[in-house]
Amino acid sequence: MMRIVLGVALTCAAAVPVSAQLGQIGKVVSVAKKANEVRDLSMTDAEEQELGAAVSERIRTRYGVVQDAAVHRYLALVGTALAQGSTRPALPWTFVVLDTDGVNAFAAPGGYVHITRGALALVKNEAELAGVLGHEIIHVTEKHTIRAIQKSKAVQMGAAETLSGSSSLMERAVTATYDNIVERGFGRAEENESDEMGVTLANKIGYAPNGLVGFLTTLKDRNQASKEKRGLFASHPEMQERLDRITKLIASKKLTATATVQPRFAKNISYKPVPVTVIATVDPGAAGLAGGDAKAAEKKEDPKAAEKTEEPKKRGFGLGRMLPSGGGEKKSAQVTASGGARGVDPEKDSKGGSNPKVVPVKLVAADITAFKKDGGLP
Ligand SMILES: [Zn+2]
Repeated sequence: MMRIVLGVALTCAAAVPVSAQLGQIGKVVSVAKKANEVRDLSMTDAEEQELGAAVSERIRTRYGVVQDAAVHRYLALVGTALAQGSTRPALPWTFVVLDTDGVNAFAAPGGYVHITRGALALVKNEAELAGVLGHEIIHVTEKHTIRAIQKSKAVQMGAAETLSGSSSLMERAVTATYDNIVERGFGRAEENESDEMGVTLANKIGYAPNGLVGFLTTLKDRNQASKEKRGLFASHPEMQERLDRITKLIASKKLTATATVQPRFAKNISYKPVPVTVIATVDPGAAGLAGGDAKAAEKKEDPKAAEKTEEPKKRGFGLGRMLPSGGGEKKSAQVTASGGARGVDPEKDSKGGSNPKVVPVKLVAADITAFKKDGGLP
């Protein structure tokens, strides 16, 4: 096909003057482009929710869901109180506790927020939980999850395609979104925005705004401890910078809410943290993609493919990801050399439970009002 096109172009070149040749070639290119038009992904709110539901299902299939109604009700009360103060209160917000010791939290489009059992075990009070959930809620409201895949080559659409009208496009979008959320994480800019707006949101609801700082400090200490044992996680200036940035923001914006609601948190959440060195893991190549063997194979074939489609922006710091993901190759080499764990990230590659079912929680407005009052929130 390519050779035939070239042949035609060469014929033209021989027959017509240079200016006309350029015009001619330009015309051929523009016709070809029109016939095979590609568009960036755009989506309606309904499509965003359809995508989010499918991505959440993949995350839940990967890590399992803690089948505990009381824990889910508590998480939904804190999460919904926050979400109602966000810019997208009407989304069908869903809060999920993932059944794994790894420390992580994932936001999927359309209002799905997931936090692991391992992360809840490190949280000390409700203000810290609000800090983590606030951060994830902002990833959703600011549509970081969607923007991250919009430029992806894998989800460019044909002229006549819509996300909900094309099952293959939806499948590609789900895979790209899952990979972005779980495997690669957001860009640094998105992480900073989520930190800032999430902390502000928690404060607005009445939670002490340094909750996120408290949680991230615990996480930092946890990873420093693991360094002594295994030589992983050498040092994390990024984490200290991040903590400093949030602390400065709290001061400059004069965020002064005070509620920590520790007793209520302790009454509802009693998971015990598992040291990062003893977290059971699974092979990252096999684990990440529920039913995605083809995708895994594709990855092996061309490990650079994902990087090529991504603009070379600085990758961020997910909650459980203390090493900067930017400059990925160098990083993996370092991890492999010092840790001997062949790039296994115990937080992300942690073993999960087997039940992917959402634990449904029904809340009415009066429940949120009562919950806030009980916690001393305005
Ligand atoms: Zn984040």
